[in-house]
Amino acid sequence: MKKYLLPAILFAIFEAVAVTLWLAKDNLFYLFNFSYIGASLALGVTLYIREYRHARRVTQLLVGSYMLVYLGLICGENMQIEGFWYYLFTGVFEAATIHYAVAKIFGPLIFGRGWCGYACWTAMVLDFLPYKRPQQPRKKLGWIRYVTFAASLIFVAALFLMHVGNIERIMFLAFIVGNLIYYAVGIAAAFSFRDNRAFCKYFCPVTVFLKPMSRFSLLRIKCDKSKCVSCGKCRQVCPMDVDVTDNSAKRANGTECILCLECVKNCPKKAL
Ligand code: SF4
Ligand code: SF4
Ligand code: SF4
Repeated sequence: MKKYLLPAILFAIFEAVAVTLWLAKDNLFYLFNFSYIGASLALGVTLYIREYRHARRVTQLLVGSYMLVYLGLICGENMQIEGFWYYLFTGVFEAATIHYAVAKIFGPLIFGRGWCGYACWTAMVLDFLPYKRPQQPRKKLGWIRYVTFAASLIFVAALFLMHVGNIERIMFLAFIVGNLIYYAVGIAAAFSFRDNRAFCKYFCPVTVFLKPMSRFSLLRIKCDKSKCVSCGKCRQVCPMDVDVTDNSAKRANGTECILCLECVKNCPKKAL
């Protein structure tokens, strides 16, 4: 039973957040929301321990589709970055702001870019595409993320500055249109760069938060140098081009690691 300690701890952490927010905000939704996410993550880790090949994808589908369909489409909550700006401007500390604070701003200090590996509904679809391992070297196009980040902020600021009415409705439509654009660009980029995660590497505005915060992540894949034979297999299978054999803070593409554990699964020497 000892091997199931990690999923149990993970579930307990999410339960603590669920109960705290439920009592603090007097809203049962938080209890359901964080319990569901905690249970999905714990299930994924349990499946991984039991060596089920698609463990990560199970969690990704459970959490990603819940957020996209239930929170986004049914509850009408814009969980995209525009929604974050919107709730921030209105001063409402509700679902989208809490989601960003937990998953994308402060959470990465603990679990890095676990969001990108296990929960994002954009990557949930992109990960079905054929280029799970990048077929081309990384391009120097990371600057695009700052353009999309600025565009999202300008879009929401303009709605407020121009006193546009019924912003709530516009934000809902922006969620639908925004997601369609993300999927279209993401799929086109995956095929052009022969890399499923090209959208994550070059276009995603959320990485402006995720990358610097995950630099200090507590959860990190480390390499046992005494076992490593420098075969390069880990680099080959990594969807994000991380040099996981370098334990220093300066490891190449270190802030890109999505904790997918492909490198760990494929290391012939169990050095990771
Ligand atoms: S980089 Fe963006 S699109 Fe990719 S998984 Fe992370 S949040 Fe999702
Ligand atoms: S796969 Fe394992 S042994 Fe090979 S380079 Fe990576 S860490 Fe070292
Ligand atoms: S393969 Fe390893 S280094 Fe690359 S993203 Fe996945 S966990 Fe991180």
